[in-house]
Amino acid sequence: MSNHNFKSGDQLSQRSILVWRIVQTLVWLTGIFILFNLIFYPTMGLHLFWNVLIPIAPALFVVAVGLWRNVCPLSTIALFPRHMGISKRKKLTEAQTGKLSLIAVIALLMILPMRHVIFDENGLATAILLMSLGSISVIAGTLFEWKSAWCSGLCPVYPVEKLYGINNRWSLPNAHCDKCYRCVTPCPDTTSGVSPLQSNKIIYQKITGLLMVGGFPGFIWGWYQVPNYPGITGIGQLISIYMPPLIGLTVTLALFLILRSFFKEKILTAIFSAAAVSCYYWFRLPALLGFGTIPGNGMLIDLTGILPVWSMEAAVFASTLFFFWWIVFSKQNKISWAIRPAYADKENRSQIISGYQQKTKAMKASF
Ligand code: SF4
Repeated sequence: MSNHNFKSGDQLSQRSILVWRIVQTLVWLTGIFILFNLIFYPTMGLHLFWNVLIPIAPALFVVAVGLWRNVCPLSTIALFPRHMGISKRKKLTEAQTGKLSLIAVIALLMILPMRHVIFDENGLATAILLMSLGSISVIAGTLFEWKSAWCSGLCPVYPVEKLYGINNRWSLPNAHCDKCYRCVTPCPDTTSGVSPLQSNKIIYQKITGLLMVGGFPGFIWGWYQVPNYPGITGIGQLISIYMPPLIGLTVTLALFLILRSFFKEKILTAIFSAAAVSCYYWFRLPALLGFGTIPGNGMLIDLTGILPVWSMEAAVFASTLFFFWWIVFSKQNKISWAIRPAYADKENRSQIISGYQQKTKAMKASF
């Protein structure tokens, strides 16, 4: 897996491909194991999914988003048809990709509050959600070229990856695309210094970028103000679970738009990205260990009798400092999440040219 001396355009060795396929299979099997538990042992499944896997994800997007893009179980199944050579490999226009990204953000903002009334407490419902996303991802991968329709389009996790992975430190080899077919422009995996507001030529991309950068910190804050309920009881309750996150989103989005007139967008994007992920762990870390503001919500293990309260305060301060250091204050690296494989069209062109040169040589020799 090491990318020592590996540079843009290089092909992965057979051994590296094998290692990546083994890791992808293991992560995929872990996903299947969690899915199995969600259906048959929901208490265990819910803990594994919402209290182990999901809390790791944001930090992983900050420090090694390329690793997740290479091994994500949904991307593994989405890109399986392409690996097998049965994808129709249709191309999407920039506007179409923008529309898919906007749908992804709307899906994310709609699904997350539903955790409070369904997904956090109901293993089968979470399993159905994951299987539905999995089915959509396979359809997307069967119809469209490489990551364009799912991993860089419809996947509701993709906008979060793009928000948190803005100061990437290492490029890993691209463990999926054998060659680059320019399926998405700009390619989030292989473009240096990618950010949610970078590609805002198209209105859908602009809205997507603004909602995520400006709105997501407030959305997360609002999300944590809502308790979990044992089920849906009516419209009033649905309004009560959506209102706080949406008010939070509106407030931080307005703040972002105002501050944009005074500060550089790049700096503000980094600050809002760090604020969003810090806010997530500010509430999540104590909740995981039993110190949450809403007792029992999202608890993995109860350590209230073992750890002093100040240790939680120290932990959330440390995590906030870390994310601000990583995203805002440390050197802005402009390193792509993955190394771009060789362009397929360039290779075709050089094959045509060399074929033509050989033909000309043969013709000259025959005269
Ligand atoms: S590397 Fe090329 S083929 Fe792969 S997702 Fe990016 S643009 Fe598409």
